[in-house]
Amino acid sequence: MRLDSPLREIKGIGTKTEQAFNAMGVYTVGDILLYFPRDYEHCPEICEIDEVKEGRKNAICVTVIKTPSVNTHSRLKTAVLDVRGDVRKLRLIWFRAPFIRSVVKAGGTYVFYGRVSVKNEQYYMEQPEVMSADAYDELRHGLRPIYSLTKGVSQKLIRKTVANALEDIPLEMEYLPEDIRVRNHLSEYNFALSNMHFPEDELSCITARERFVFDEFFFFILCMQLTKDSAEALENTFSFGDTSFAESLKKQLPYKLTGAQERTIARVQADMRSEKVMQRLIQGDVGSGKTVVAFLAMLDCAHSGYQSAIMAPTDVLARQHYQKMVKMCYDFGLDYPVVLLTGSLTAKERREACAVLENEPSALIIGTHALFQDKVNYKGLALVITDEQHRFGVKQREALSFKGAAPHIMVMSATPIPRTLAIILYGDMDISVIDEVPAKRLPVKNCVVDTSYRKTAYRFMEKEIKVGHQVYIICPLVEETEGSEGENVSDYAERLRGIFPDGIKIGTLHGRMKAEAKNQVMEDFLENKIQILVSTTVVEVGVDVPNATVMMIENAERFGLAQLHQLRGRVGRGDAQSYCILMQGDGSKEKNRRLEILNQSNDGFFIAEEDLKLRGPGDFFGIRQSGDFRFRLADVYQDAEVMSRASYEVGVLMQDDPALADAAHAVLRERLRQYAGDEYALLNL
Ligand code: ADP
Ligand code: MG
Repeated sequence: MRLDSPLREIKGIGTKTEQAFNAMGVYTVGDILLYFPRDYEHCPEICEIDEVKEGRKNAICVTVIKTPSVNTHSRLKTAVLDVRGDVRKLRLIWFRAPFIRSVVKAGGTYVFYGRVSVKNEQYYMEQPEVMSADAYDELRHGLRPIYSLTKGVSQKLIRKTVANALEDIPLEMEYLPEDIRVRNHLSEYNFALSNMHFPEDELSCITARERFVFDEFFFFILCMQLTKDSAEALENTFSFGDTSFAESLKKQLPYKLTGAQERTIARVQADMRSEKVMQRLIQGDVGSGKTVVAFLAMLDCAHSGYQSAIMAPTDVLARQHYQKMVKMCYDFGLDYPVVLLTGSLTAKERREACAVLENEPSALIIGTHALFQDKVNYKGLALVITDEQHRFGVKQREALSFKGAAPHIMVMSATPIPRTLAIILYGDMDISVIDEVPAKRLPVKNCVVDTSYRKTAYRFMEKEIKVGHQVYIICPLVEETEGSEGENVSDYAERLRGIFPDGIKIGTLHGRMKAEAKNQVMEDFLENKIQILVSTTVVEVGVDVPNATVMMIENAERFGLAQLHQLRGRVGRGDAQSYCILMQGDGSKEKNRRLEILNQSNDGFFIAEEDLKLRGPGDFFGIRQSGDFRFRLADVYQDAEVMSRASYEVGVLMQDDPALADAAHAVLRERLRQYAGDEYALLNL
C-alpha cells in the first residue's frame, strides 16, 4: 500500500464506504492520513450512575440485568435500556439500532459512554458507545480524535480506517532537511502523522501539530519564493497616458472618496506608470470601499487601450461586480465592453465572452476562477485584480499572471493581518492600507442575545422593513442534518413565513443551490423583491446590498470571529443606521466571551487581536478563522511565530541551494512536486 493507493486497499473498506469517503474529498490513503481531527477528547473517569453530569459525556460501568428492549416509533426502531443507581434511573437510548440487543446482553458488564441530558426530570444517555472495561481503560490512555463527518461516515469508521492505514503504510522518508528540523525543534514526520490522529498525550499532539503547521507555511513560502518572476519579467511593458481621465471619473462619483481611498488610488496610478509592474496588496476592513479603487484602475487601463480583469471568489460576487461595472460605465457614459466569465455561463455565453477577450483590447473583464482556465486567451491584459484573495491563494494568482506578459497585479483583502505577517504571506508585494471608512457611515449597533429574544428581534425587523430596509438572517446549516445541532436555512425560512405577514417576501440562499438559482435570489434581494434573506455563510464575502440594515446570526457561537466580522460587514454599507444581532443558540446562560469582543468593536484588527488573546497556545480545539489562505491546520494569527521561523528557513535554504539541486534536497524536491501539483511547472527550478 502506498500513499497514492486508492482507499479500498485499506483493510475493511468496500465500494460503498469508499464512495462515502470520496464524497468528502478523500480518495487515497494519503488523503485519509491528512484528514486531520477537528478536535480531541479526553475520556472521563468512570462514574456512578447517580453522579452523571448533565450536558456532557459520561462513562458508567454497569452489569446489565435485562437485555435492552426495542420499541418501534413511526418506523424507527429504538433500543432502550434502563439502568439504576441508588437514587436515580438513567435511560440509555439507541436510535435506529435494534442490533444493540445482540451486543448488550443480560449478565454482561459494560462501559456505556455517551452524552447525558435531562428531559422532564428523567436522565437520558443518548447513543452511548458500548465497550468492555478494558477497552475503555485503553481509551483513557491517550486523546481520542474527533473528525468532521458526512453522510455514511461515522467517527468509528474514520478512526478504524486511519488506524489501519497507519499500520500498513510504509514509513514516509523524512523530507525536511535535518538541520531545519533540529533548529526548530520539529518532530519527525512519521511521529507527527500518527500523533495527529492518536496522540499519546496533549504534548505530543501539540508537537505533532506544530510540525504540520511549519510544513504548511514552509511549502507555501517556498513556492512563493520559487515563483517570483525574474527581474526582467517584471518590466512594465504597458504605456499609460496621464491621469486626467481617472481624475475626471473621480469627480463624477456619487460620493466623496475618503482620504485613504484617494491615497491608494494615487499609488496605484503611479505604480502602473512606473518602470516595474505593480504588485500591490490593498488591505481594507469590510466596507472601507475597495471596489471603487479597483474599478478606477480598470477604467484607467481601458482608457489606455488595455484589458483588465477582476477575479472574485464566488459567482454571486462576480455577478455583483459585473452589474456595478456595467452601471458605472453607463453612468459615466463610457462604452468599453464589460464581460462576465464564470463557471455558470451557458456554452454559448461562454463562447461569446471568450470572443470578446480575444478581440477587444479595452475589455473590462469580471469573473471567478473560470478566468484562468486553459482555453481563455486575453488580448493585452494589463491588470489582474483578485478580490478577497485569501480565498484563492497566491499560487493561483501567479498562474493567472502567466497568461499575459507580466500584467500589473492588485490583490484586495479584508483580512486584517499585521504588516509583518503580510510581508511574509504576500511575498514582496507593496502594501496599501485603506484605514478609513466613508465619513457619513454610522457604526453598526451590536447586541448579543439568547433565543428568548427572537420575538423582539422579529418585531424589530418588521419595523425596519416597513421603512423600506432589508434583513439578513444567517443559519449555520442548510437543512436538518443528523448529528449536527443548530438552525438550518430551509426550516427557518419556512417558520418565518408563518410569522411574518404575506407582504414580506422571504428568500433562501445556500451553497447547494444551483448557480442560476443563487444569482436569481441575490438579484431579487438587491432589487428589494425579497425583504428577508435567510442564508448560510455564502453571503460572507463581499456581497454589497447597502439597503440591508439588519444582520441576525443564529448560533453565532458556532462561527469564528473573523467570519462573524465579515458577515456583519454586509450591513452598515449605506447611510442608514444598521444593526447586528448575534444570537447565542447553545442554551448557555453564560455570556460568550468571544461574542462580547464583537459586541464591543467594529474594527477588524482589534477583533483579530482580542480573539488571539482568548485562544491560548495549543488551543487548536477552538473555532478556526475562516478559510484564510487555505491552510489545513495553520492559523495565520495563532501560528505567527511558526510562520516567521518557516520564512527564515526558506530564506536560508534559497541562499544555500536556490534550485534545490543538492542531492540532499532530492526528497524535499519530490515533496514539493506533490505539494505544488500542476503549478510545479511554474516554479523556477
Ligand atoms: P469593501 O471594501 O468591503 O469591498 P465596497 O467597495 O463594497 O467595500 O464598498 C462598500 C459600500 O460603500 C459600497 O456600497 C460603496 O458604493 C460605498 N462606498 C465606497 N466608497 C465610499 C465613499 N467614499 N463614500 C461613501 N460610500 C462609499
Ligand atoms: Mg469587497
